[in-house]
Amino acid sequence: MSKEEYRIVKGQVMVPYELALGRTWSEFYDYLKEEKIMGKKCGKCSRVLVPPRSFCPRCFEDMDEWVEVSQEGVVETWVYVNMPFFAQEIKIPFISAQIRLDGSDTGFIHQVAGIDLSDFDSVRETVKLGGRVKAVWSKEKKGNILDIAYFEPVK
Ligand SMILES: [Zn+2]
Repeated sequence: MSKEEYRIVKGQVMVPYELALGRTWSEFYDYLKEEKIMGKKCGKCSRVLVPPRSFCPRCFEDMDEWVEVSQEGVVETWVYVNMPFFAQEIKIPFISAQIRLDGSDTGFIHQVAGIDLSDFDSVRETVKLGGRVKAVWSKEKKGNILDIAYFEPVK
């Protein structure tokens, strides 16, 4: 066998898993069922984190105070996904965006939708950095992040 000969075996690996949510994430999802987006506020630096954390990663203080944030915010960054990839359950094309809600000091990842996603040029005219978006709720709540169906641009 020569050094230049490069042989491979193709396969796929499935990794089923279960993740313990813990108290903070469980409560966050319970609030989503009530159509409330809640963050945790640090008693030391006053930052509000959405998604919430059990402690402030800057101050290492426990974060015990829940505060409701706006269901509207701004797009901090976004990506148009038009290539399928392994284990991706969302139908392409879709937009994955980092959204910072009013009243929050951090951004979190969700989809921007509710617009025509078939034409990238028209998407670029609609979805802008700093553009405002608002939460659209799923009718049926399951106590997970998809209780927010997506965020849509505010007209
Ligand atoms: Zn802090």
